[in-house]
Amino acid sequence: MIFVFWSALFGAFALLFALGRKGLPLWARVLVALVLGGGAGFVFGEVAAQAKPIGDAFIKLIRMLIIPLIVTTLTSGMIALGDPRRLGSIGIRTVSLYMATTVFAVVIGMLMGILFEPGAGVDYLSVDASAQGSVTERLERAVAAERSFVEQLLDVIPANPLEAMVKDNILSVIFFSIVLGMGILAAGEKGKPFGAAIESAAEVVLKITSGVMALAPYGVFALMAWVLGTQGLSVLANLGKLAAALYVACLLQIVFVYGGIVRVVNNLPVLRFFRGILDAMSTAYSTASSSATLPVTIADLTENIGVKKSIAGSVLPLGATINMDGTSIYLGIVALFAAQAVGLELSLTDYVTVAVTATAASIGTAGIPSASLFLAIAVLTAIGIDPKAAILIVALIFPFDRLLDMMRTMTNVAGDAVVATTVAKWEGELDEGLLKSERAP
Ligand code: ASP
Repeated sequence: MIFVFWSALFGAFALLFALGRKGLPLWARVLVALVLGGGAGFVFGEVAAQAKPIGDAFIKLIRMLIIPLIVTTLTSGMIALGDPRRLGSIGIRTVSLYMATTVFAVVIGMLMGILFEPGAGVDYLSVDASAQGSVTERLERAVAAERSFVEQLLDVIPANPLEAMVKDNILSVIFFSIVLGMGILAAGEKGKPFGAAIESAAEVVLKITSGVMALAPYGVFALMAWVLGTQGLSVLANLGKLAAALYVACLLQIVFVYGGIVRVVNNLPVLRFFRGILDAMSTAYSTASSSATLPVTIADLTENIGVKKSIAGSVLPLGATINMDGTSIYLGIVALFAAQAVGLELSLTDYVTVAVTATAASIGTAGIPSASLFLAIAVLTAIGIDPKAAILIVALIFPFDRLLDMMRTMTNVAGDAVVATTVAKWEGELDEGLLKSERAP
């Protein structure tokens, strides 16, 4: 079986390589990889998990680029803006748009939770105790790591920028890069050589990103084979309605809310837009991490959509940390799922509580796999579900969370891309001709 699997894998890789040689664009090859990889996982089951190291290598290669990319694109973006005061308007527009899309997401999520009734008749009391143990442990760690709001704000200022980079502390790195950009501008003539060096570094890192992305079809194939091989479609048996509610809600958000913004607000061709960010969406889907996808999102927006580096480099890293529409959809649905499972009637106030806590939790969620599942406990207890029952419900979802995580992460990343494009349009930093011209992807 193992031999057959590896032969199939090499066959698929050879096919993907040949399709590239034939000139099939990257986004199309990634789609082929997504389907073939998923199929391989489905057919070979657990054996397909052997492909995981290939997927992990792909994720590590992209993650390697996150910090260099943020520092160089954001700093050179600040230099290109020329005036630090413009940051104010970009910031306000970015945060308001992020909030607005999240409001739509929460409402759509809760509507689907009511419509699909995913929790009706779910037996959460029979959850395997061992799964519960590991969930409780992770939960305790999460609670121990919790910090007050003021502390979190203070954390944004890095005591040591290098340490912030080492620890992947994205908000602190954003803060430092903005300060660095301002410093270069303020230094005038004397700052120019350093600014030029950083601008050149940004070009280099973007080139490396494109290079890594050429490997995306193979990485995506391996990740899909692993996920479907180990989690399979068994998710459908237990949590089928939860998965359906989430997938439908995320698709509605992507097609109507994001598609609407692209069409009506930006006046851009919707299909071409989504094709342009397909690398980012499929990387998000296969890695389940918005942070790990960030370099791909930045590369897609600057190269395919025409968003200037100043906007892509500032709006996207912020979005990858605070804007998670798929996650807030998910948290809303899980809250209703839990209420239905324990037989709790929700009042109007409870719905509002779900909306507010789901939004807050999605902002606090880190862009890594399964991050929000553990925050779901907070949302559940906020509407009066007993903490023990809340833990059992999270333990019930935990083993199947990956397939749900993939969809919400893809939505999170699509939301970041749409907002960044809109801010770029409003700031006059969008090369509108690119998507409308023949050079479009
Ligand atoms: N995995 C998601 C992300 O990276 C976060 C979540 O768990 O909802 O965007």
